[in-house]
Amino acid sequence: MISTRRALDIVIVGAGAVGAALCHALAVRGFEVGIVDAETGEERASVRTSALSGASLAQLSGLGLWPLEGVEAAPLRALQVLDRSGQGRLRFDSADIGEASLGAIVNHGLLEAALRRRARALGVPWYFDRAEEVAIEGGRAEVMLRGGERLRAPLLIAADGAQSTIREQLGVPVLQYRYGQTAVCADIRLGRPHEGVAWQRFLADGPCALLPLPDPCRASLIWSTADQEARRLRNLSDREFSEALRGVFGDALGTLETDSERAGFPLVASHAQRYIGARFALAGDAAHRVHPLAGQGVNLGFADAGALVAALEAARARAVDLGSRRALRPYERARKVENVAMLMATDLLNRAFRDDRAWVRALLRTGLNVTDTLPFLKTVFMTASGARDPGGAAHDARQGP
Ligand SMILES: Cc1cc2nc3c(=O)[nH]c(=O)nc-3n(C[C@H](O)[C@H](O)[C@H](O)COP(=O)(O)OP(=O)(O)OC[C@H]3O[C@@H](n4cnc5c(N)ncnc54)[C@H](O)[C@@H]3O)c2cc1C
Repeated sequence: MISTRRALDIVIVGAGAVGAALCHALAVRGFEVGIVDAETGEERASVRTSALSGASLAQLSGLGLWPLEGVEAAPLRALQVLDRSGQGRLRFDSADIGEASLGAIVNHGLLEAALRRRARALGVPWYFDRAEEVAIEGGRAEVMLRGGERLRAPLLIAADGAQSTIREQLGVPVLQYRYGQTAVCADIRLGRPHEGVAWQRFLADGPCALLPLPDPCRASLIWSTADQEARRLRNLSDREFSEALRGVFGDALGTLETDSERAGFPLVASHAQRYIGARFALAGDAAHRVHPLAGQGVNLGFADAGALVAALEAARARAVDLGSRRALRPYERARKVENVAMLMATDLLNRAFRDDRAWVRALLRTGLNVTDTLPFLKTVFMTASGARDPGGAAHDARQGP
């Protein structure tokens, strides 16, 4: 059955953080957009947090999506990086770039829920259903939903995540690499206040990070490690797990106690060969997935959303068909290089810090210590990692209303 609701300009499949932000931004700008997501829309906090960079906060603010009601943000004032030996140290401080914070830490589940709420408040047609099939026919993209409904529009945006079945059906080849690592995520109670500092130590099997939460004595753990070790860590008793954490961070934050579930996320890097085609565009994890060690995945997705909205507005202003390659090419051009660069940088860091060769370890240790003494170099790193908007846009990482 073809949907009898109003004619759509754009159908988005996937209302994760990226799809929901896109949906809101497009609807606010007067595009007729409909969105499909299999999830019921139930609001819940997750054990996973996202570090939003200063550039992302500026981007979301520009899209009218920051601050976000219901999302409490912890300002990230500094990042303390340690190598495996604990002797190589590097501290990124927001003061080095003349900002109040490097970004903000938010609960990922609440971020998604708030973005969905904002989009739904605009009266966007919302389909709580699964997109089963897509077809490109007669100058339209057609999406068949499990419930039997069919949606048609000149443009389909696939924001259906790293395992995108829409991408597969559209025949877009994807390069995928399984790290053999799993990120173990949990909430941690700290013996000492974190003072807005995130800690990251690179261990033999991967990086272990503690990100500050709005409660001054709580942090979010993202411990990336070999799959088997992750299984072991998840099965430890609370006391054994606390001891393992203490082995990583020592006494820097006092006692580290866990009282939440320990969730595991298998880590994969992937990149789609094309982001666009006739009548479609891919955005967010459907286009690229990076190792979480630099906390960049959703930040890259928000940057995709900004670039895609800009391309579609420009196309509309010139009366260019929204689903044409001509309309979409500027989006792909704007995003591919940055996304590939981040994918390679995170991949390289992950490999380098796991490398057992003595000269590689010595080089990394020296590199961290040298960089720590050169404020100019650190500023360059922070800009490159998205902590600072290269355009210098101001951002406000304070708590949401
Ligand atoms: C452990 C971990 C820590 C991370 N930390 C950070 C961080 O600190 N900072 C950061 O920037 N990023 C981080 N990331 C990455 C970030 O979480 C992702 O990049 C981001 O969530 C991707 O959002 P998305 O909207 O593109 O995809 P998703 O969040 O995967 O959303 C896809 C949506 O599509 C829906 N969907 C899928 N298929 C269909 C279908 N056929 N029909 C209908 N709906 C469908 C799903 O229900 C889902 O809602 C982390 C990732 C992990 C694993």
